Amino acid sequence: MDLGLTGRVAFVAAASKGLGKAAARALASEGMKVVVSARGEETLRATASELASATRAAGSEIEPVPCDLLDAPAIEAAIARTVARFGRLDVLVANGGGPRPGTFSALSEDDWRHAIDGTLLSTVRLIRAALPHLRASGQGRVLVITSTSTKEPIAGLLLSNVLRPGLVGLCKTLAKELGPDGITVNNVAPGSFDTDRMVTLHARIAQAQGISEEEARARTDAAIPLGRMGRPEELAATLAFLASARASYVSGQTIVVDGGRTGAY
Ligand code: NAP
Repeated sequence: MDLGLTGRVAFVAAASKGLGKAAARALASEGMKVVVSARGEETLRATASELASATRAAGSEIEPVPCDLLDAPAIEAAIARTVARFGRLDVLVANGGGPRPGTFSALSEDDWRHAIDGTLLSTVRLIRAALPHLRASGQGRVLVITSTSTKEPIAGLLLSNVLRPGLVGLCKTLAKELGPDGITVNNVAPGSFDTDRMVTLHARIAQAQGISEEEARARTDAAIPLGRMGRPEELAATLAFLASARASYVSGQTIVVDGGRTGAY
């Protein structure tokens, strides 16, 4: 299926590793020009050159643009650099490092502020900076990577449980406000995907429950109807579809990609 993305431009936040990197690869494989962004410059540059080699045959171009999502002016500058480099912006993938884990009693005022800034406000700022360009695109797409905490609380991830549903409210409202501009706004809710973040979370679970990391991981796999964690490219395929011309009438939705784990409708 031709996704109709050739020559279009995407900005993917938090894209040097994990789900963001997989999203960037999927979009570049469709012939898009893609800006990948994250804080650590060395990893970011290595990712950009890896993705450029892997997707060159599709006619992609990849540009690394360092940006800390906790720094509001840096977000504006990164979007401006994207448009300066490629002349337009059609697809925004709003991703981030994720809020710190913890239960209510364990979380400090600083943890809350960090999460509000890094998870909620960074998304608002990315969308605000991208909006004039998405309007000009005629086929603007906002894709927010959230979590299945949008559907049901996840034990030990209180900040995600509080803030991700806020992102759903943001996306749902923006789908209505931006529909007249031809912009679709959706969020994709991953279950458990095999990335560095999951390695960190499994290490925490192992320590808290007095089990090995292998056992923690095996328990996660066993709780998923498909019997395993997702591969990042399995989330990215959904993102690429939602970014595409083929998803022109899908907006305001939370698309769960979790191997069938989440019980809620
Ligand atoms: P990951 O593998 O740890 O990658 C995180 C990426 O975010 C890296 O590129 C990192 O690069 C970047 N990043 C972190 N803090 C940043 C900041 N302040 N500014 C800019 N970039 C930043 O994580 P992941 O598993 O792909 O997760 C991505 C998002 O999906 C997170 O919000 C996570 O909570 C959510 N999620 C993941 C899963 C899962 O199973 N993996 C499930 C549900 C939700 P630098 O450190 O160099 O900046």
